[in-house]
Amino acid sequence: MTVILACGNSTRGGLEAIAAARALGGPAAQVIYADLGKAAGDVSGFISHGADAVVAVTDAGLDARSVEGFTEVLHRLIGERAPSYVVMAGNKFGRETGPRLAERLKAACINDVIRIHGDGPSFERLVLSGNSVETVAPSTPGLTIVTIHPHSFEPLPADASRKGEVAEVKVAVKPSRTRLVEVKKRSTAGVDISAAQTIVCGGRGFKKKEDFQMLYDLAKVIGAEVGGSRPIGADLKWIADDKWIGLSGKEVKPRLYIAAGISGQIQHLSGIRSAKTIVVINSNKDAPFFKECDYGLVADLYKALPLLTEFCKRELKR
Ligand SMILES: Cc1cc2nc3c(=O)[nH]c(=O)nc-3n(C[C@H](O)[C@H](O)[C@H](O)COP(=O)(O)OP(=O)(O)OC[C@H]3O[C@@H](n4cnc5c(N)ncnc54)[C@H](O)[C@@H]3O)c2cc1C
Repeated sequence: MTVILACGNSTRGGLEAIAAARALGGPAAQVIYADLGKAAGDVSGFISHGADAVVAVTDAGLDARSVEGFTEVLHRLIGERAPSYVVMAGNKFGRETGPRLAERLKAACINDVIRIHGDGPSFERLVLSGNSVETVAPSTPGLTIVTIHPHSFEPLPADASRKGEVAEVKVAVKPSRTRLVEVKKRSTAGVDISAAQTIVCGGRGFKKKEDFQMLYDLAKVIGAEVGGSRPIGADLKWIADDKWIGLSGKEVKPRLYIAAGISGQIQHLSGIRSAKTIVVINSNKDAPFFKECDYGLVADLYKALPLLTEFCKRELKR
């Protein structure tokens, strides 16, 4: 039987890793989920979401940021459970720990996977800032370590009838070779934009911060979250740090994404790859975004946005 070790250090990351492990091994595989951080009492829920067994790794010295500690612990678990595959959550933990483990164990390592084909198996992953997808497969027999791309694998629905073993492992890891100096809280505006179903997003086509109010007015009428391009968030600070979208910002997958005054550079587009319907308003008919949208409006956003808001108000009776 194929044994797959799925690993994570957060609930969402863990659920996605389990879903990816199931996509890889099918119902016949034994999926063991290793959670690094939670106590045994808090991990049994992962069984109902597709794991056959859960190992809660707790300890002494296992700092939430300790990549060295995670590597140590997982190295040990892999030795004990002998999986054919390790599937790591699509977050910093997975991206940093997976390649370290692969190097230690001389295993194949495939990063940033968005889709798994069970025959073979082969793995699709994003390359070139998310602009292309390549398919790769391990070229050697033995262990393969896979890190997944965030939000690419939907957690499996809970099935309360599932049963499985829950174990707790206490480990003592060596002290980390790095030490934490400071943590600065990023500014947030409450709602997680990556989960929003409708998003209106503004870019440098807006002349000043106050003009963003036009986006908030439209958002209120259609029930959307407001985001921005990186210059708006990271440079101008017109929106909170967790509201800019793209390669180095948030990745979103709304049903409707409306972009106003955004040129559509690759780094922005890679954050909206999974949006269902994309609407672009830009005054320059040659803006690259027009090649990537479902509906494009060549117009001055200062004229178009108030008209669109009024239209939606009328149509939606709000
Ligand atoms: C490593 C790296 C990571 C990056 N990560 C990100 C990221 O995560 N997210 C991101 O967004 N960017 C990212 N960038 C930056 C990215 O390359 C672009 O510079 C950025 O997306 C441009 O933002 P913009 O479209 O708002 O501005 P611009 O490119 O300046 O575009 C403004 C647009 O507004 C239009 N416009 C002007 N006036 C009006 C008007 N009155 N009405 C309508 N349209 C108007 C213009 O025609 C133009 O197309 C990254 C860059 C690098 C190098």
